[in-house]
Amino acid sequence: MEDGDYGKYPMVSKYNRDQIEAIILAHNHLRSLNPHELSKLRSKIEGYLRFRKEVYEFQRYYFSEICTNQCFENNYSACCNLEAVAIFFADVVINVLLSSDQEIYHLLEALRMGSRGFKCVYLGNSGCIWRLKPIACEMFLCKDAKAAVFTKNNVALRQWEEFKCREKAYTWPDKPVLFDDLEEYFIKAGFSSDIMYFHKSPGLLKIKSLAKIRKGYS
Ligand code: SF4
Repeated sequence: MEDGDYGKYPMVSKYNRDQIEAIILAHNHLRSLNPHELSKLRSKIEGYLRFRKEVYEFQRYYFSEICTNQCFENNYSACCNLEAVAIFFADVVINVLLSSDQEIYHLLEALRMGSRGFKCVYLGNSGCIWRLKPIACEMFLCKDAKAAVFTKNNVALRQWEEFKCREKAYTWPDKPVLFDDLEEYFIKAGFSSDIMYFHKSPGLLKIKSLAKIRKGYS
């Protein structure tokens, strides 16, 4: 897959172009790996996928009515009314690992089409077109949805708080975490992407360096 064609679309924003480049980079590199290397990478994300499944099932159980029936089907989709969603390079890698070539093509086409005003470019007719949506999207609940469920259900609230803590085990780099590791994996293979925030964002770099000083991990 080449990114040259996307140079023909000067209207593509830097934000979308960074994602196009990251998707193509991840796709090309993953396709070049031998089956053994690919299976090592797949086992690295197994625990995370189990976590995502649990969160998905929780959301489906408690929120499908309010989110699907009251929001998505009314064409409001409050949680996807953003032009720029926080997407990590690891989100891209994991999604590419799980996606078919056709699904990746659709993501690239959505990015190429560019801004849809107040809607996320990835919002299709049947919902998000990612095979496994970015973690920031999965862990976002709007205040109306939270109020509708959590004010009358303490068990659900406690479960959600537990998920928010568990999310940090993959994404909060005050210790070695999957999202940082996956970037590292690609950096060691000689690649770079502007959405490798665990290696480029001043905020995340600060968390990492403070943790290293505090705990002495390297
Ligand atoms: S990436 Fe998917 S889930 Fe996230 S805002 Fe866009 S359409 Fe919604």
